[in-house]
Amino acid sequence: MIQLQNINKRYNDITVLKDINLDVKKGELLVIKGVSGSGKSTLLHIIASFMQPSSGAVFVKGENIASLSDYHAAEYRAHTLGYITQNFYLFDALNVTENLLSATLTERHSFAEAEKRITEALKWANIAHKAQQNVATLSGGEKQRVIIARAIINNPDIILCDEPTANLDSKNVENFLEILKTLKAEKKCIIIATHDPIIESAECVDRVLELKEGNFV
Ligand code: ADP
Ligand code: MG
Repeated sequence: MIQLQNINKRYNDITVLKDINLDVKKGELLVIKGVSGSGKSTLLHIIASFMQPSSGAVFVKGENIASLSDYHAAEYRAHTLGYITQNFYLFDALNVTENLLSATLTERHSFAEAEKRITEALKWANIAHKAQQNVATLSGGEKQRVIIARAIINNPDIILCDEPTANLDSKNVENFLEILKTLKAEKKCIIIATHDPIIESAECVDRVLELKEGNFV
């Protein structure tokens, strides 16, 4: 599903990623660990095409996404990717349903179809009971369910999670693990950047790689 070939990433004069090669399969759940500053987020940003590598190729379903135009990169993200972050990046002034509407716009659905998909995604993420509630008034765990609903709404093949449990209490970490199991059963390709030992040692994790000094150790 994802193949990274000889990825290098430099910011000015510091090299963050050095000659990374990685192959992640459909249905695989990969954890990337590493201390803060080791390049985990940079690697996810490159896979998400938020950022270009300094050199190297990123193949997703056989296509090199490192050379996409901005327009096609946005299409790729809308159709193929779900992104779950530690920072919630929700519109605090809007309610839950309104927050999910923007994610459905890329598909050019009718409003009725968009509403149906939003309802299904909220149900799936177990947050449908808060559909009309203002996001600013949700707890951290509830906000994360909204993020998860938004991440899966277009049925993406790939889910990238950047420190997904950093702001969650232990009960919500358990809930998140349940969601991971379901996503895995649906054959999603999942990559989680984390230094949470609970996630790393979870039974549903297939592989753990550690980033250190720019490469996997
Ligand atoms: P992690 O997610 O593992 O904490 P990051 O990928 O965020 O690591 O950062 C890796 C290194 O790259 C850090 O030293 C960080 O300061 C640096 N870095 C990240 N983004 C930028 C940027 N836009 N410009 C310059 N340096 C950056
Ligand atoms: Mg990070």
